[in-house]
Amino acid sequence: MATEKCPFCGQEIDAAATKCFYCGAELNKESVHNRLEQLHDQDIQAARKIHKSHFIKVAVVLILIGIVFFYLIRTNYAEPKIIAVRNSSGLNLSVVSLIEVSKPGEKSIRRGVVMPVETGVTKEFERPSSPPPLPKQVVISWTDYDQKQYEREISLEEVLTDPNAQTRDTLVFEITAFGGIKVYRE
Ligand SMILES: [Zn+2]
Repeated sequence: MATEKCPFCGQEIDAAATKCFYCGAELNKESVHNRLEQLHDQDIQAARKIHKSHFIKVAVVLILIGIVFFYLIRTNYAEPKIIAVRNSSGLNLSVVSLIEVSKPGEKSIRRGVVMPVETGVTKEFERPSSPPPLPKQVVISWTDYDQKQYEREISLEEVLTDPNAQTRDTLVFEITAFGGIKVYRE
């Protein structure tokens, strides 16, 4: 006896049967044809679904890669290893502080301190062996021996990301006369 699969329930049945022994479906030319068409449509829809979910997965992966690259490009510049204060102000300074600019309502974080810094002298800020990345915005404050205090807010964005300065290891905050400040790498 030749057998074939019932297109409705999948059981092996007599190829000559006009009605499925298992599910009772009518097996004439038209019903079988319609059923096969229906199965074909279901296959196409399933394939479309898979295609769609693949597309979404690929899109998510590409977006993640994009975010990682964006992050790397923005942050992966070589940080200066040494941060120094150069005093060319003509006055001896008792203390110089490097302060991270905080968001409104947050406490300022002191990133380094040097004391004293006599005029004509360059001194390094003490830093931990693996310090957190330098913030983009800092405040340098210093006090001279007359207890006069100065405070300057400086953006480090340019000096940190300048590709021409990447090989220069030292970030210098130079305090000049009359409360001036310059920042550069050398
Ligand atoms: Zn059947």
